[in-house]
This record gives sequence, C-alpha cells and structure tokens, in this order.
Amino acid sequence: MATYDYDLFTIGAGSGGVRAARLAGALGKRSAIAEDWTVGGTCVHRGCIPKKFYVYASHFGEEIEDARAFGWDVEVRGFDWPRLVAAKKKELARLEGLYVQNLAGAGVRILRGRAVLEDAHTINVAGERVTAENILIATGGRPYMHEIPGHELMITSDQIFDLPEFPKRVAIAGAGYIALEFAGILNGLGAEVTVVYRRTGVLRGFDDDVRTAVQEELEAKGITFVFETVFERIDKKPDGLHVRLRNGDTLVADQVLMAAGRDPSTRGLGCDAAGVALNARGAVVVDEYSRTTKPNICAIGDVTERVNLTPVAIHEAMCLIDTLFHDTRTKPDHADVATAVFTQPPVGVVGLTEGEARERFGNVDIYRARFRPLKHTISGRPERVLVKLVVDHASDRVVGAHMVGLDAPEIIQALAVAVKARVTKAQFDATMAVHPTTAEELVLMYQKTTN
Ligand code: FAD
Ligand code: NDP
Repeated sequence: MATYDYDLFTIGAGSGGVRAARLAGALGKRSAIAEDWTVGGTCVHRGCIPKKFYVYASHFGEEIEDARAFGWDVEVRGFDWPRLVAAKKKELARLEGLYVQNLAGAGVRILRGRAVLEDAHTINVAGERVTAENILIATGGRPYMHEIPGHELMITSDQIFDLPEFPKRVAIAGAGYIALEFAGILNGLGAEVTVVYRRTGVLRGFDDDVRTAVQEELEAKGITFVFETVFERIDKKPDGLHVRLRNGDTLVADQVLMAAGRDPSTRGLGCDAAGVALNARGAVVVDEYSRTTKPNICAIGDVTERVNLTPVAIHEAMCLIDTLFHDTRTKPDHADVATAVFTQPPVGVVGLTEGEARERFGNVDIYRARFRPLKHTISGRPERVLVKLVVDHASDRVVGAHMVGLDAPEIIQALAVAVKARVTKAQFDATMAVHPTTAEELVLMYQKTTN
C-alpha cells in the first residue's frame, strides 16, 4: 500500500479549509494546509469581517445626527479614513495570528505558497513536492473583472478596504451583495455613490418585496441607481475617472468598483492533471458528500459554488471530516440557509421567497407589514422596516421569513432556528410579543395580506 506524507492536504486557508485542516489535525491525522495569501482567507481579510467593521463605521454619521433629536448636543466634524483602515489592519493581523496559532495547536503544518496539483496524490507548493492520501480543494473565489477598455483603472472588493484616500465619488457595477453593501458603506461615510446595473431592480433572487424595500431605502439615503446599462469604457482625465455607459451617459468618479460576482479559484490549480472535473464556470464538480470526480479529492466552499457563504463553507468542512475520518458519511444540508445583506438598513432572510413558495406549494399565505420603527418617530428619519412571512397554506408551515430594517440580520439568525424546525404560523401567533421591539411585529401579523 502506498504511503503518503499526509492523511489530508488542504489547499486554501480560508473559512472552509482552515476548519477542515484543524479538525483533521485535532483527530491526530497528519494534516497540512497551503496558503498563498493570508491565513483566514476572504472572509477574514477581504470579506465579512472588514466589511462589517466598515458598516459599523459608516453608521456613526447617522447615529450622531439622530442623537441630536434625542437631546444630545453633538456635531460631526469629519471622518478619518486612514484611521479606520489602520484600526482594521491591526485587528485583522491579530485574527490571522489566532488562526495560525490554532492550526499549529492542532498539529497542522502551514505551507506558504501557491499549491498546484501534479496528480491525484501529489501537490507542489512553491517548489516543495508533498503527497497526501486525501486532498481538499478549498481555494475559494476571486472577484470577476469585466475586461472593458480601461478596466485596469477599476478596483474590486479586494482593493477597496485599503484605498490610500477616501473616494468622494464612486461608481459601482452590479446590484448584488457586494455592490449594495459598499454602496451603503461609502454613502454613509460621505461619498456620492452611483450603482449601475444591467437589469432593473436590485438583489435579483431575493423576495420582490425585499428588493423593492431595499431600493427605496437606499435611494432615500441618496444612492443613485442607473438601470439597464453597463460600463463600456473607463478613461482617466484630470477631473477623475470618466465611466462611459452603454446608454451613452458618462459618470465621473474617483473610484470605480467592479462588484459583478466572483469566479471560482481554479485557474492553474492542476485539476486536469489530477483528474478533477470542473463545470463551465470553472467550479469544481462535487457530489452531495463534497467528493470530486477523483474519489480521494474533495472540494468545499466557494470553489464549488453551492452556497457562497462562510458558515456554509465551515459546515461543509465539518461534514467532510465526519465522512472522511469518523466513518459517518454526512451530507452538508443546504436547505433554509439564512443570509444577510449588510446594507443600511440591512436585510435578513431565511427560506423561500414568495415566488419560490408559490411555485413549490401553489397555495401560500402572505403576512406583510411595513412600518416606521419607534426610534425614528423621534429621530425623524424616514427609514421603514419590512417584515414578511411566507406560509404554505396546506400545512400552515412558515417556509420563508424576510426582513429589511435595523437589526434584521440579528433577528433572522434567531428566526432561522424556528424555520429550520418547521414552525407553523399558528405557533408564531401563539408566541407572546416582546414589547417594544421591531421584531415583535413578526408574531403580531394575525391578518393575511394576500393568498
Ligand atoms: P476563501 O475564504 O476565499 O479561502 C480560499 C483561500 O485559498 C484564500 O485564502 C486563497 O488565497 C487561497 N488559495 C486559492 N488558491 C490557492 C492555491 N492554489 N494555493 C494556495 N492557496 C490558495 N459571507 C458571509 O457569510 N457573510 C458575509 O458578510 C460575507 N461578506 C463578504 C464580503 C465580501 C466583500 C466578500 C468578497 C465575500 C463575503 N462573504 C460573506 C463570502 C465569504 O467570504 C466566502 O463565502 C468564504 O470566504 C468562502 O470560504 P472558502 O473557504 O470557500 O474560501
Ligand atoms: P452577486 O452574485 O451577489 O451579485 C453580482 C451582481 O453583478 C449582480 O447584480 C449581477 O447581475 C451583476 N453582474 C454579473 N455579471 C455581470 C456583468 N458581466 N456585467 C454587469 N453586471 C454583472 O455577487 P457579489 O460579487 O456581490 O458577491 C459574491 C458572493 O459573495 C455573493 O453571491 C455571496 O454569496 C457572497 N457575499 C456574501 C455577503 C453576505 O453574506 N453579506 C456579502 C458579500 C458577498 P445579475 O443579477 O443580472 O446576474
């Protein structure tokens, strides 16, 4: 029988890879991980965590304004972008240290450098060749760049966190998670933001009421949307970057952000040499146990393009370790994954949209409320909350919960447990409200809006 250097070799130390490598190491398996950038991956260094810091930062302007209506004598004298960037860098360096320490603590060897598969059991990391019985591809994704003339003048989410200067005018391509989160952050910090989207309406794939509410709220905050067109070319001129749109208009901006999706990171990885099949988008093809077309090679996280979220990558890692080393074959469960879009106000959703539920169940009951939260009756801010429940009429089961408004991500996290547990609308109605809260509306919607 062949002997290998490692029981598990993981390529990519992001959300999924770190969890798998660490769990394998903790079980006493010979585990190693390769990383060619920062240990912690996209979420820690260029995604969820710095994004959330910047969302917090951008809220303070409004909070200070609102404080005045509540009697505080305060004024905003300015915002120091380099100070925020430096604070973020310091915290991320600390986090990376913890990740490295935890991997080392579990006996995992970290190899710094780009890993390439040479065959189904051999990996070359920056010139060092190692072998492994099992290989895990957890290389994540990278921002898509539309290569129009002048595309090198654009930035992606990888660069935006560390811009040396705060951009006063920003044009953004796309109307998905990243485009809208950054539109909110930059607008909150004082930039003039224009979002350019090839179709009409934001957040395609989300419930239509959520889409409408988000667009209305962001427009009310001063973000401009230009629909049914795309960037055609970018030119650098003395007064800024000139973004020519296909509809003939031109925007002038200090930074242009391409936020039009992410591609799986498989280019040059050696999947061919190892016998690992990719789909047309370059994502690794996996079965329901995260196995690729080569039985000893598995893949998890964004590189498989199932549900591209950090908790999902981590869940897939945990299931995989059970399958590989605990003798309990475990499939990741991708049903009812709750998600949040950290716009301002934010979105929190779990389960089916109204459209999806109608397609699946036919007869559905809708409970919806749109209201001004108590805080803004005094602050005077026009922001409103949307809450919506989608109920399968036949079983009375709540199959979707949707919210736009302050704290929606926190509220939906708790609600996701109930939806996952197949809660019924009658159980919502039987639940006492916590008063006065925004979330109480969820248990007070006794009357159907439509069916
Ligand atoms: P990654 O975290 O991308 O890690 C892959 C790692 O592999 C990287 O470190 C990369 O450098 C390394 N790598 C790639 N190729 C090689 C190679 N050949 N050799 C060695 N190393 C390699 N998700 C949420 O749940 N909540 C959020 O709020 C959220 N916000 C986000 C905001 C932004 C701006 C972005 C871009 C993403 C956000 N996400 C969020 C998504 C989340 O970051 C990803 O779903 C998650 O990081 C996926 O984890 P992963 O392990 O699959 O890949
Ligand atoms: P999304 O898929 O959310 O949005 C991409 C946007 O770009 C869509 O509006 C899409 O339009 C548009 N688009 C795609 N291709 C083109 C093109 N060629 N020209 C013009 N527009 C285009 O991707 P993001 O990049 O925003 O984020 C990537 C993923 O990362 C998310 O899907 C999510 O899984 C994860 N993420 C999660 C976050 C969170 O949990 N809060 C935050 C950030 C990212 P169309 O609708 O027409 O396809």
